[in-house]
Amino acid sequence: MTIRVRFAPSPTGYLHVGGARTALFNWLYARHHGGTFILRVEDTDVARSSNEMISGILEGLRWLGIDWDEGPEVGGPFAPYLQSERLDRHREAAGRLVRSGHAYNCYCSGDRLRQERERAEQAGAAWKYDRTCLALTPDERAALEAAGAPHAVRFKVPSGLVRFDDQVHGPIEVDGATIEDFVILRSDGVPTYHLSVVVDDADMHITHVVRGDDHISNTPKHLLLFRALGVEPPVFAHVPLILGQDKKRLSKRHGATSVTEYARAGYLPAAMVNFLALLGWSPGGDRELMTREELVEAFALTGISGGNAVFNTEKLDWMNGQYIAKLAPENLATLLTPYFAEAGLAPGGDAARLSRLLGLLQPRAKRLTDFIEQARPFLEDAVTYEPEAERKHLSTPTAATHAGTLRRVLADADPFDAATLEGVIRQAAADCGVKAGDLIHVARVAMTGRTTSPGIFDVLELLGRQRVMARLDQLQAHLSTLEPTRSRE
Ligand code: GLU
Repeated sequence: MTIRVRFAPSPTGYLHVGGARTALFNWLYARHHGGTFILRVEDTDVARSSNEMISGILEGLRWLGIDWDEGPEVGGPFAPYLQSERLDRHREAAGRLVRSGHAYNCYCSGDRLRQERERAEQAGAAWKYDRTCLALTPDERAALEAAGAPHAVRFKVPSGLVRFDDQVHGPIEVDGATIEDFVILRSDGVPTYHLSVVVDDADMHITHVVRGDDHISNTPKHLLLFRALGVEPPVFAHVPLILGQDKKRLSKRHGATSVTEYARAGYLPAAMVNFLALLGWSPGGDRELMTREELVEAFALTGISGGNAVFNTEKLDWMNGQYIAKLAPENLATLLTPYFAEAGLAPGGDAARLSRLLGLLQPRAKRLTDFIEQARPFLEDAVTYEPEAERKHLSTPTAATHAGTLRRVLADADPFDAATLEGVIRQAAADCGVKAGDLIHVARVAMTGRTTSPGIFDVLELLGRQRVMARLDQLQAHLSTLEPTRSRE
């Protein structure tokens, strides 16, 4: 049997990390088994769906490297893959179900049913369609038809237990008596989700449905529909929800939820894929950093946990940092180009210097965006002193003396490389009877404006003598403006 799985997003929003994780699990399952991964866009909610949302979802999947074998833009033997273009198939199936006695026309007015439901709910009782229209005699039915009475189509839920073996949650059974005769075709001729999803899964020969836990209560209905249509149902695996760190369902409140936002915030697709794969799935053992190939190799539905998964941003940041650390400098420079452009920074044409700069910043960076602020002092002419750096290292009475010492010894340090500069600064500290750290702090603020930076000797070497001198001049000028204030205190 060839495995055929699908990701079936409703384009009523952007690609959410939960949806991306569902897509990824399906994709990994297909790739592991040499199966087929299908993308079917469930755009039947015309009012809430849009082409823009569809493009956003496709873009998010592409960014993650989740490619589809059949679906929008690539086509396939079961096209179309936009559900809105398949409605005739769904209507035709509804007709077949009516003819085979598995479904019936319901002429009850929506308003009346709504009122009944509200009344029952107010009285605290459960409400279920009372099968008024199932009890119509052929004559009554004919009369309603002759009068052109509008009707929906309801599925006639058989009595007895509906059982299935969920690949994540184990055996599940539901009593048919608790399921109402649900509508499969509305009176305006629009099929409902239950009918569309089953007809499409049947038409596309889907073998495994891997989807969110929020659909678990729909599955008995879907199984009944498959059987009534004479189609062997797929295997079901319901994936647990993703929660925020407060154990509430992941939402905007917790920060970014759309994949595109993560892309923009400087996460790498490989890190995101690795992170999402481990949200609710485990390869066993304590493996965490896994390449796409390793994930494909290890993926199995049995590794999906039944408990909800918690989205831990610190872990994502850590993982992203690990992937960033492994990037070759040229790749890194290419990846950063749009971020530099957006920040109005021009890293210039000296590729070797840029590579060295990025190499210095790489070990500390968690997101691509971290490089931008960290690189700024190296790419702009003047330094801006952060208030914290100013307070800690520039407001001491000795700051100006240290700046003078640095200026004097660095002016003729030769060669101007990290090792020589380290020797020169340490010697100067010893000669002046101060701690090397005192000179280093001042040098760091002078060069970067910050309290933290890559190793200061590397920073000095990278900036080069001319810029180092200019920055010390800038610092001395700045300190002289602070001087009068201090002496008045
Ligand atoms: N279109 C449905 C949704 O986005 C998914 C249906 C399914 O996977 O069966 O929730």
